[in-house]
Amino acid sequence: MLQLKNITKTYYNKKDPSKNVTALKNVNITFPKQGFVSILGPSGCGKTTLLNILGGLDTSYNGQLIVDNVETKTFKANDWDAYRNNHVGFVFQEYNLIPHQSVSRNVELVLTIAGASKMETKENSRKVLTDVGLEDKLLQNPNNLSGGQKQRVAIARALVNNPELILADEPTSALDTKTSAQIMDTLKEISKKKLVIMVTHNVELARKYSSRIISMLDGEVQSDEDFEKSEEREEFLKKLPQSYKYGKSKMKFKTAAELSFKNLMGKKRRTILTVLAGSIGIICLSIILGIINGSKNFAKDLNNMMLKTEPFMITEKRSIGGGYDCSDDDVKKMEAIVDSELDDASNSDDIKNPINLSERIEKVRKKKKIPDNNLTPEFQAHTLSVLEKYPGAVNAIDIPRNRGASFLCKVGQGYEMMNSGFSEIPASNNLETQYDLIGGENSRWPNEKGEVVAVLNMFNHLPPNILAVLGCSDKSVIKPEELINKEIGCFIPNNLKFVKLEDSKFDLKPKKDYKDMYDSKEALKLKIVGVVRPKRHAERGIFERKLAMMYTQAQSIDPGIAYTKALGDYIFETTKNSEIVKVQKNTKESVLGEDEEKKKMDMMYGISKKDKKDSMRENLEKLGYTEKPKKIMIYLNDPVSNKSKVLEYLKEYNEGKSDEDSIMFSEEKNGEL
Ligand code: ADP
Ligand code: MG
Repeated sequence: MLQLKNITKTYYNKKDPSKNVTALKNVNITFPKQGFVSILGPSGCGKTTLLNILGGLDTSYNGQLIVDNVETKTFKANDWDAYRNNHVGFVFQEYNLIPHQSVSRNVELVLTIAGASKMETKENSRKVLTDVGLEDKLLQNPNNLSGGQKQRVAIARALVNNPELILADEPTSALDTKTSAQIMDTLKEISKKKLVIMVTHNVELARKYSSRIISMLDGEVQSDEDFEKSEEREEFLKKLPQSYKYGKSKMKFKTAAELSFKNLMGKKRRTILTVLAGSIGIICLSIILGIINGSKNFAKDLNNMMLKTEPFMITEKRSIGGGYDCSDDDVKKMEAIVDSELDDASNSDDIKNPINLSERIEKVRKKKKIPDNNLTPEFQAHTLSVLEKYPGAVNAIDIPRNRGASFLCKVGQGYEMMNSGFSEIPASNNLETQYDLIGGENSRWPNEKGEVVAVLNMFNHLPPNILAVLGCSDKSVIKPEELINKEIGCFIPNNLKFVKLEDSKFDLKPKKDYKDMYDSKEALKLKIVGVVRPKRHAERGIFERKLAMMYTQAQSIDPGIAYTKALGDYIFETTKNSEIVKVQKNTKESVLGEDEEKKKMDMMYGISKKDKKDSMRENLEKLGYTEKPKKIMIYLNDPVSNKSKVLEYLKEYNEGKSDEDSIMFSEEKNGEL
């Protein structure tokens, strides 16, 4: 039996105690062993907080949580592990499935982590997936499933460990009525054998399916209606064994001697970890608890885990911490910087200038003198050859193009040519699960050539040059809504940008022509139709937020303005077919006139003397015909089994190369999880 006694939970705000929130006030509830209990109430009334306490995700509160007559205050870290892993299954509003992993793999992972044998794992996951009606979807990628099917995978995942208690936080709020009903049927069926506690604000669904409804308001229980005859239930309860023995957690994580779970939970990271834990369910939960309990190197473990489930990204900027030597001190410094900025950012959506943060982080990076990864065409070819080397191991390889394309923008009263801050949306099929659309109800992803999306980072930053176009100075801020339908600039094809001189040389058109260029028919105007930001309240967001700043600053789409594949193709074609590129391809000499404009251009494109190794490539790059991407993304099928052999193969590229010419993979200096 599960019981809450006098639970009071306050979220403390250290900086401003007047902002403390008491989310639960003296809550007393006794739950039955089986059945379907709904917790109803408006947003913010404390439902999720209550669920987190029941699931052992939050252990800092006043009052008692009693599980099968055991007061959980007596739980040691191991007991909490066992409770969360074996006693509770979590289902959330967002399905939190791991993309690029098959449906059955998503479910199997829970058991793999818990240390079950391979046979057991396969059999059990097939069984629960059959129970939820997905037996014909085992090998599908979750991205190809409907919302309802995804949620059923999540339910199967919650069930696979055979827990006693299923906690579901608004499991149907992203689904339509019909699909919701199917999910409710599934949960109802489960509740015949287990206790299902569902949080919802849908009164109708609650009434229709649950055996008991607890209504909450402002952290207090308002009413508690039991639809089962109480005598019947008492009879039933008598038949059940009085004490329940928790299964022992089989996870092989080191246990931290000096740090109890509670101590760590008291720290700042707790919120991050709790959110993290809360949103992906038991898979991450297990790993996370391992991290909390066992690991001194939080960042390293996060990175390891991230790489196991996410596209494997090779970035031009070598990573700090993960891939490159970095003292604990440096990591701490970075974390502190990130934490303070996050505190600021999480209170509003206001878009700000990143200068402050990047300067502070760059200072830590600079000290290390880290060279860039040189993602040459040779390395790209080597990467692509993995498709033949290990057929089936790699789902897709994404090499973003068009790095040097030129965009003409209005800045203040004048015009500026820009080539940074713009990028193509990568071909990944799971961006919607990684990003939130913000900026109001009209905000959406772009479809057409002339439509773009503004991509923020976790800190609500846009690159300074983009902010300048938007009229936002160092100190000022803008609201995301203000960006919708704004014209951000236009793509300028080379034929419009350069003039041909008499001796087969070309020159940039002078600045005084920019206005005419902008107004020209051949300039393709770009309109912002949406604003996106990496998800914050999902575990991915938090991972990315941490990782992005600590290591590579990589997120799937570079912050700035992102355009469609349609425009990407258009840019690629017009650049390739432009006169200047055609001429340049036939000569090693630069086809640009040696004048002041050229110098200006070098400055503009940030090409330093030291880079001038291969003038043809470099010259082509300046014309928007780039051969080097900033990052390469590799989407693995079943990363857990394929990652290491693919990485080994990629590393063969480094054989016989100097440190500067070789590619540093971000996990190289990490231990194994
Ligand atoms: P519900 O799930 O019913 O929408 P929650 O349990 O999420 O409600 O939140 C209850 C109250 O506690 C809200 O006022 C919310 O703002 C506050 N709250 C929730 N989580 C936190 C947190 N981590 N820090 C501070 N306040 C929080
Ligand atoms: Mg909630």
